[in-house]
Amino acid sequence: MRCFSSVAAAFLRLCAVVGPVLLGVLTLLYTGRPAISFLAAGAALAIAILACDAWLIARRDWLTGGVALTTQIGFLFSVGGYAAAPFPAVCPLPKASPPAGMAIYVLPTGVNHRTAAFAYRGGSPWEKWDSVSNAVLVRHPQGDVLIDTGFGRTIRSQLEAMPLLFRLATDLEQSRPAADRLDAAGYDSKHLRFILLTHAHWDHVSGVPDFPGVPVLVTAAEHRFIYDGGFPNAPARNIDPRRFQDYGFDGAPYLGFDQSRDLYGDGSIVIVPAPGHTPGSVVVFVTLPGGSRYAFVGDLVWQLEGLARREERPWLEARVLGEDPTSVQQSMRRLSAIAMRYPQINIVAAHDPRGYVGIPELSRSAVH
Ligand SMILES: [Zn+2]
Ligand SMILES: [Zn+2]
Repeated sequence: MRCFSSVAAAFLRLCAVVGPVLLGVLTLLYTGRPAISFLAAGAALAIAILACDAWLIARRDWLTGGVALTTQIGFLFSVGGYAAAPFPAVCPLPKASPPAGMAIYVLPTGVNHRTAAFAYRGGSPWEKWDSVSNAVLVRHPQGDVLIDTGFGRTIRSQLEAMPLLFRLATDLEQSRPAADRLDAAGYDSKHLRFILLTHAHWDHVSGVPDFPGVPVLVTAAEHRFIYDGGFPNAPARNIDPRRFQDYGFDGAPYLGFDQSRDLYGDGSIVIVPAPGHTPGSVVVFVTLPGGSRYAFVGDLVWQLEGLARREERPWLEARVLGEDPTSVQQSMRRLSAIAMRYPQINIVAAHDPRGYVGIPELSRSAVH
């Protein structure tokens, strides 16, 4: 009898310690080949393990109990691997009170002829992609804002200073600089209060010299990055340093981003940090009085497929640009979550022409 009870005790201990391993095997069998028998065996085993746990606690067998706890935690951890990895939480659509008279216009400045293979992993080398470079004018009663500047009047000389290989791989077709488009529309440049950069790469700052005296808003991280070297931000280094105006993120979380900057305090132009492509890259959310919403994501992705398929830039381009892959992935996940949750927000990737459909070009009648 004594012998039998010691065998039974050993069995109960074994059940508490090894049971979770068997439970893990049953879980694997069920997920691979769903059958009620696996479920029933798993449920019975789980109950048996809990009963053995109770028995160990009653006997104050802390040594075996500790080992059993370890394997049981291991089992729970392995089951956790089956749980969904949801997108970052997306808060409710933030409130905005855009003032009457606010509007946005696109100012096309040119095109770079490339292929989808250049833009994102898995993109076809046969699919031609016209990588547009645009400036976007946001008209606002507190002062107009130009989001990026596209190719400026001096783009040719800026390009001549670039490495030969880069120039050979760049098939650029300039249309009309943003400053010329504004002049042609009769726009009074005294309304332009800020140039707001999504980031400081050459194709986004090229037109800055065409707007002398207009402050250029950058994050502190991007400001440092400009002077860290690298040919893609060489044109930014030639901008009068006194024109850069740093800003911080002192606002509440915004659509899953931890920080924000509400430029005019009315929710109409809200900037969030989205580092990765460059250390100080941002996304600019614009809300218009009619309720239209836009997210200007800069170069987080070059083509919208990058977000939809969550495909980053090809390895070589990401390395040449010095991207931080972990930050790029984080920023892309946040934007993908927003795109899925709020399809009414128009995602504008700087170089994808499809994002600008629906944004009018500036005309004389719009200005006067
Ligand atoms: Zn860029
Ligand atoms: Zn760019």
